[in-house]
Amino acid sequence: MHKSADAPPTSRDADKTTDDRVFRVRRLAFASFILVFAATALVLAFRAQRADRVAIPTVFRLQSRSMEPSWFGPRFELTCPECGERVVMTIDVASSKSLTRSTEASPEIQAFREQVRVMTCRNCGYDRAPADSAVFREGDLVCLTPVGSSSRLLERWRVAIFRDSSGVCSLKRIVGLPGERVAIRNGDVWIDGKLARRSLEEIRSVATEMRPTVVTRGADRVYATYVVVSRAAKDGTERVETTPSAISNESPTPSFNGGASSSVELARDFETRFRWNADGAEGERLVALVRRPDRAWFVEYSPTKRTVSARSTALRDGRASSGRPFELLTPDDFADAKESTAPTPRVAWRGTLDVSLSAVDGELIVAVGERELARLDLGDAASTATAAISTPFAILGDASRASSMRIFRDVHYSSLGEREWTTPPGRYFVLGDNSPASRDSRFPDVGEFSVENVIGVATTCNEDRRE
Ligand SMILES: [Zn+2]
Repeated sequence: MHKSADAPPTSRDADKTTDDRVFRVRRLAFASFILVFAATALVLAFRAQRADRVAIPTVFRLQSRSMEPSWFGPRFELTCPECGERVVMTIDVASSKSLTRSTEASPEIQAFREQVRVMTCRNCGYDRAPADSAVFREGDLVCLTPVGSSSRLLERWRVAIFRDSSGVCSLKRIVGLPGERVAIRNGDVWIDGKLARRSLEEIRSVATEMRPTVVTRGADRVYATYVVVSRAAKDGTERVETTPSAISNESPTPSFNGGASSSVELARDFETRFRWNADGAEGERLVALVRRPDRAWFVEYSPTKRTVSARSTALRDGRASSGRPFELLTPDDFADAKESTAPTPRVAWRGTLDVSLSAVDGELIVAVGERELARLDLGDAASTATAAISTPFAILGDASRASSMRIFRDVHYSSLGEREWTTPPGRYFVLGDNSPASRDSRFPDVGEFSVENVIGVATTCNEDRRE
């Protein structure tokens, strides 16, 4: 069938074309066979999990955007023509009753193709990226571990797959256990009157990177600032403004069917990650400023003393009592403040370290890599201040020692007003990570799920998304 490239043209060229066509058809048939084989394998993976014998796959594609940024549903992606960043628009698929995977032929996906002309880049604010060049991608792969009749796996912060009375399946995070009182305040979850704290791993699994993050180097410090791209209608024309203010709890990615968002709540909890060169005399301690809406912390890590200490001072309109703004604060501004100290485990304080400082859930968490060095109480867990802050972080000292700074914002749950729920016995209060886009236990028509509603706990089995 194949001829060598240098063969002279012959009357058999017509036959060659036919041969090629046959070859193509065969190749297509082979591809179809592979597809059918894969589909069969998927079907074989299905197992009847419950007494009602409804087959539940152990691996499926997420169909909604309610768990962003942990998991993504069906989406369109393109590369921003202005800055080259990935622009993502996720789509809710009406019903995930059968856990059928949505394909490009699904009505919701078709509707996107017909209605959406342009996409907005979250990184640079360019809002004319042509949607017709976007590539469709199916929802993330989620792996299911059946829980059976045991509720042992149903721990707080675990993600589980629930099925409601009408058979619709959804993926949500377990927040309230049976009998617990649940409240949402300032974006955080409170259980029985106490802020529900999480491990560093749990915090990181729901954190969203802030873009664009601006890193400014002064003579003796590095600032990490984030800016948010906001839309504003001025002079009757829509335009994009980049404002160094705050991030709302709106969907972390611009979304197709979430366009008109509800009231804006401001997020206040952040994690700052950076690389730190700990070599040399200057590397004997790490000194940083952490900013919260109405308070600034001076944090010092001493590897020789093996302690992390923090002192704080109040901020009013971004300024300390000395009159200096956060960006110019020095250790002197904290001289009179009470110091709290936590002992830290021994870590090798040499070379280049990946350090993170998180001001989350009313705590300051200092970590090197995955390892927590210390947790200090920020004392502001009950604060209602969720004001705009644009500079959550600064490193003092030899500025050149910090590099690759990135800022992440914590998940921010919408309370839908001041409310409290009591989880009935045998039931679970669940929330989606993408609070503005999630229908979960906050809504009376959804309510809490019983253990019978639980199909299993979910883990990611993505082949490609996580970096
Ligand atoms: Zn861009």
